Amino acid sequence: MEKPLTITTKLLEELPKTDLHLHLDGSLRPTTLIALAKSYDVELPSYTEEGLRELVFKDDYANLGEYLAGFKYTTAVLQSESALERVAFELAEDNQAEGVRYIEVRFAPQLHMHSHMDAATVLRSVNRGLARARDQFNSRPEVTSGAEPPFAYGIVVCALRMFSELASEYYRDLLRVHRYSPERRVFAQASMELAQSAVRIRDEHDIPIVGFDLAGQELGYPAQDHREAYQFAHKNFMMKTVHAGEAYGPESIFQAITDLHADRIGHGFFLLDTTMIADPTIKDRERYVEALVQYIADRRITVEVCLTSNLQTNPAIGELKNHAFLKMRDHRLSVTFCTDNRLISDTTVTKELSLAAELLEGDSKLLKDAIIYGFKRSFFPGSYQGKRQYVRRIIDYYDEVEARHQDAQAAGQQ
Ligand SMILES: [Zn+2]
Repeated sequence: MEKPLTITTKLLEELPKTDLHLHLDGSLRPTTLIALAKSYDVELPSYTEEGLRELVFKDDYANLGEYLAGFKYTTAVLQSESALERVAFELAEDNQAEGVRYIEVRFAPQLHMHSHMDAATVLRSVNRGLARARDQFNSRPEVTSGAEPPFAYGIVVCALRMFSELASEYYRDLLRVHRYSPERRVFAQASMELAQSAVRIRDEHDIPIVGFDLAGQELGYPAQDHREAYQFAHKNFMMKTVHAGEAYGPESIFQAITDLHADRIGHGFFLLDTTMIADPTIKDRERYVEALVQYIADRRITVEVCLTSNLQTNPAIGELKNHAFLKMRDHRLSVTFCTDNRLISDTTVTKELSLAAELLEGDSKLLKDAIIYGFKRSFFPGSYQGKRQYVRRIIDYYDEVEARHQDAQAAGQQ
């Protein structure tokens, strides 16, 4: 009998992979952040990579607030077309360098909007960077000859559950204009404006804006408020994902599915945690979670699991082995592993998959299922036929890479 394949870092790097939950503004190269801060006169607590790692982008954070603190620097430097294009290009390039073949880059365009930059300009800039990196990669002989599958991407726009005047010029102006309206209504209105402009820009500018997302603090800012925006996205054939169950209980995920028509769930960490249910009208908590999980499993609503990020924002998890992923697997949920923020979490897709492999006790078949699920449950731009062909090509290539490693391991070369 053939020896089981050992999952090595080299194997993980060569396998074709996805990252479906990847924030543009959380994934800059530290050197680029420093260079952009210098050219735009943005004050940083340190101008060296080591200094930033010590003060802002750590391995361990005390809480979600500390985790999010770094975003104020990254969004501050991303206020021009050239900065957005550069960061998008480099993000695609960093993914390509570790064998990632498909990414969905998400960000909140409204964080980058001001009097000289509207939503279309923001989205066009990011798209230019991603398209340039894609074309560069796909013109390599390995891809043009058909030996390797091409690189592809989609863009996901994020609405925010809540924001302050300090978040950006756009948000500040919106809050000022509607200063007599309840704040939650203004947040909902910002989401609706984003949904409308995302659909228009997708159609007019031929930009692969494939999905709509909702990010930000769950507690006190329910998903329901953004129903109208999601309804608009839904009616216009845009796919939907929602950050839910990251810091709040199962009913947040319930709202994401029922009110916002979520096709995927970002994090879903507390999906199975009956103790996190806050709604007093839910009497039988076990039954509620069981029904919710069954629905999610049966509809193949995919959970975007970000292991490192979850460990950093929920220090109570403690060790990797306590992560809810193992329970998700026991319930046969569809799961894909993602980085969330390459800079803020100091991670890569390869690192996330090596953690996943550890949880899966080195089972290469289970790992393959999770990786291929990323391609299958992606919001791939283009036709369904095109997507099927792409996934088929990816699976063939995956098998080739595995076979090559299996042979090398058998020959004792690795
Ligand atoms: Zn996220």
